[in-house]
Amino acid sequence: MRILLEGFTKRFDKVTVVDNMNLEIRDGEMLALLGPSGCGKSTTLFAICGIHRIDSGRILFGERDVTNLPSQKRNVGVVFQSYALYPHMSVFENIAFPLKVRKFEAADIDREVRAIADLTHIGPLLERKPAQLSGGQQQRVALARALVRKPDVLLLDEPLANLDAKLRLEMRSEIRRIQLETGITAVLVTHDQVEAMSMSDRIAIMGQGEILQIATPDEMYHRPCNTFVAGFLGNPP
Ligand code: ADP
Ligand code: MG
Repeated sequence: MRILLEGFTKRFDKVTVVDNMNLEIRDGEMLALLGPSGCGKSTTLFAICGIHRIDSGRILFGERDVTNLPSQKRNVGVVFQSYALYPHMSVFENIAFPLKVRKFEAADIDREVRAIADLTHIGPLLERKPAQLSGGQQQRVALARALVRKPDVLLLDEPLANLDAKLRLEMRSEIRRIQLETGITAVLVTHDQVEAMSMSDRIAIMGQGEILQIATPDEMYHRPCNTFVAGFLGNPP
């Protein structure tokens, strides 16, 4: 589903952290939000998710204005660094949780959990507890839990930050494969240029509280709009 931010502004106390941002996330694309630490990437994701109230502007999911809807009333899937699995629940129960909360029938829960577990390649792990999984497997469970409800948009905040280098490479292509197979609209927040380049359809580069350029990875690399973008991509003019 197409997601639109119109004039999105967010302040903490008197400090404007995101200033009048306009951003379109196209239906079915993976958009990387790339920028240095503290520039407002997570704040933007929280606004789409509905965790933060915004100070001005509008947020649209398709034709629907969700600006004043709380998180529970928006159909979003989130994988945040700090958004851990429930340790006392099995993998099955972790993935089933968002459906249980919404009073799905047991047979429907079973079918949906198994389908998403197949897609994320964790079918044989459903009876385990999170502590019995590797970091990469835990990440797959977190993705499955985020996707099981078939959300309008998948929000990923530095999803690879806690993984070692080898797993990071593997999960980069896995997250992209899963996004392409489901066709879900997704936003990937990262400060890692290579991650953004290799996983997304388009990259939005953020400086302090604003979008500086949006382009495909290829365009961005070959035609950065200014020296900040060029330098940030490691490709100084
Ligand atoms: P990023 O994700 O790009 O690293 P954030 O969106 O987390 O950046 O933060 C942007 C700015 O907003 C930072 O200066 C940060 O200190 C500030 N900020 C974020 N959350 C809060 C909060 N809850 N209260 C006050 N300031 C915040
Ligand atoms: Mg952040």
